[in-house]
Amino acid sequence: MTQSIPQDILNALTDVAMPRLEAEPEIAVSVMVPGHRVPVYSCGTVIMGSGAAGLRAAVELKRRGTDVAIISQSAWGGTSACSGSDKQTLHTANTSDRGDNFKDMARAIRAGGAMDEDTAYVEAVGSVRAMASLQFLGLPLPQDDFGGTLRYQTDHDDVGRATSCGPRTSRLMVKVLATEAVRLGIAFFNQTTGVKILVEAGRIAGILAVRPKAQTPDNPYGLTLFRCSALVIAAGGPGELYRDSVFPNGCFGSLGLALEAGVALVNLTESQFGIGTRREGFPWNLSGTYVQAMPYVYSVDAAGGEHNFLADYYRTTQELASNIFRKGYQWPFHATRMLNFGSSLVDLAITRENQAGRRVFMDFNRNPEAVPGDQPFSLDRLDADVAAYLGRAGAMQTLPIDRLRHMNPLSIELYLRYKVDIRRDPLEFAVNNQHMNGGIAVDTWGRSTLPGLYAIGEAAGTHGVTRPGGAALNAGQVLGTRVAEHIAASGVAQTAPEGAMVAQVEHALAQIEQVLRPGSPLDVRAVKDEVQARMSDHAGILCTPENVASALHVAARLNQTIRDNGISFMRGGEIARVLQWQQLALASQAVLAALHHYISHGGGSRGARAICEPNGEATPMAKSGPLQDVRFRQEREQDKREQIMVRLVGEELQITSRPNRSFDESAKPFFERDWPAWLTGAVFDPGRGQDA
Ligand SMILES: Cc1cc2nc3c(=O)[nH]c(=O)nc-3n(C[C@H](O)[C@H](O)[C@H](O)COP(=O)(O)OP(=O)(O)OC[C@H]3O[C@@H](n4cnc5c(N)ncnc54)[C@H](O)[C@@H]3O)c2cc1C
Repeated sequence: MTQSIPQDILNALTDVAMPRLEAEPEIAVSVMVPGHRVPVYSCGTVIMGSGAAGLRAAVELKRRGTDVAIISQSAWGGTSACSGSDKQTLHTANTSDRGDNFKDMARAIRAGGAMDEDTAYVEAVGSVRAMASLQFLGLPLPQDDFGGTLRYQTDHDDVGRATSCGPRTSRLMVKVLATEAVRLGIAFFNQTTGVKILVEAGRIAGILAVRPKAQTPDNPYGLTLFRCSALVIAAGGPGELYRDSVFPNGCFGSLGLALEAGVALVNLTESQFGIGTRREGFPWNLSGTYVQAMPYVYSVDAAGGEHNFLADYYRTTQELASNIFRKGYQWPFHATRMLNFGSSLVDLAITRENQAGRRVFMDFNRNPEAVPGDQPFSLDRLDADVAAYLGRAGAMQTLPIDRLRHMNPLSIELYLRYKVDIRRDPLEFAVNNQHMNGGIAVDTWGRSTLPGLYAIGEAAGTHGVTRPGGAALNAGQVLGTRVAEHIAASGVAQTAPEGAMVAQVEHALAQIEQVLRPGSPLDVRAVKDEVQARMSDHAGILCTPENVASALHVAARLNQTIRDNGISFMRGGEIARVLQWQQLALASQAVLAALHHYISHGGGSRGARAICEPNGEATPMAKSGPLQDVRFRQEREQDKREQIMVRLVGEELQITSRPNRSFDESAKPFFERDWPAWLTGAVFDPGRGQDA
């Protein structure tokens, strides 16, 4: 029986309006440096970014009485506010029928390796509080009759720890947190892009930002100095790194910004790629029910000819259809899933079609076409796991669109909002970059290697090689809370710092002017096209040692050209973008340098990337035989135990590695023994060295 959900309920979960921001505080003070009068706003803690992670930290800090302000490039921009999937997932301890075990959950979170064991446990144990407090703020997570949260299985999740409010879970998280931020009266500076981290006596002292509305004849770049004792970077992931991307437009992250401040980055080799609609249209992830409905996946060549290309890879119609289904909860590409006719052959096949100049579509009005010589598609001929799921879901309707409507009507509504009617038209899609697992190296309190600088959400490099679906949103909430606890406990950011730091502003300005050069032959468009093409073509799901090495070489050359000639710009409004592209070019070199280091030290295929070479130990098989061009190196166990770190020293990227931090599962907390550490604040360990 198909369930009918009233339209107004669907609308409320699809069109999520954001609260109105209060007027920005006046900035009365300014500092004079040659040719520039730079306004100065001082407060205890600045949060850079207003996604789900940044807003969580802001709200938690304000509730602890800390003087806090948010600066954001775009108040409701970024992935939390603008991205999603059929059921966008939040991963927390399973509170439904059988309870959970935090140690098991932590093991699952770090199962892919290269992840700190203590961080995994922190995320697991903190997930209950993260979820409950979001519910308290009004996040409409679905419950059963007894108050248990409804759950399902997602990527890298054997237990079923995923929950969702529908396609826009993270936007709803932003909404409830932003509403609370407004209610608490947190100062919010919108259209404000942080471009230079300022350091004084070895610790954070502020962030220099570009604000178009601050542009005046005596402040031609629209600079504003935000003085602070603690800075929390919550700027999200570097979505603009790749041409083929399901990130929303304008996501630059903060990797280059952090590198320039001498901050260590970690796990830059690890990303996620999977199927979705690209940001040139409406960027959206096609996991979950979109593929569990088993639409017909085909390609179209330049002459308009249609190709049932998956039939070249899978041996039977049943195998083909079942693997389309499995992309629902095996969404990210994984090299090993190309073996044994697994679900990542789907990603490989799509990538090769695109490389051959063909466009790829899914059609919800047609079932998968038969593999030539085999029987036609039938709901009676599916692999056991697939048949069991569809049976339980009651999704045995004849056409994919009816199965999709039955399982998740919101997924259809969502595309309709963007004038794409998947009830009628096939949907074009591709394999895209979706998530950066690495980022700024932090400890379990979110502290970076620069005292006073914290990082949370996708800006922080807390994920290992794989992460369960929904773990990104959970990590942002958990660490967002912990940085607030740490900053409040340390007391350093209770009030605004004093002093205008003229010398630091002058130095930062000189660096900015090295980049902003109106006469440069290089413009933003050229930097963007070069960086994105290189990353998508040479650092996507299929890499070779030679391609990565040569990509690194030309990436370094681009950064040298930028250092020598700067980047031209036409209007004052472009200044932030120019600086962000310069920093992203540096970040792309850092990603390639880490990848090159990993591969040249013998690292194999893991997570998002297959490291292909003619003598690789593993050969994916297709119906037509072995796929020799994608023979790949297998992963080594030893690489799971460590993480690759990158720092900028002078103009050189320095690559090192360190072992994962451990967590002693046998150590038991004991109330009377451990309470004093909480009471005295020793638990926050504020004096400990920065060992992220
Ligand atoms: C299509 C898609 C689907 C996804 N689905 C899931 C899922 O189901 N489950 C899951 O857990 N994760 C998912 N993710 C990942 C997850 O959405 C992100 O990791 C998460 O939302 C990041 O939150 P954040 O707060 O760290 O950053 P964002 O939400 O990206 O926010 C970044 C903020 O920083 C601001 N900013 C950026 N640079 C600057 C600067 N220089 N100065 C000032 N402000 C700046 C931006 O304006 C924005 O406000 C998905 C991602 C995509 C792209």
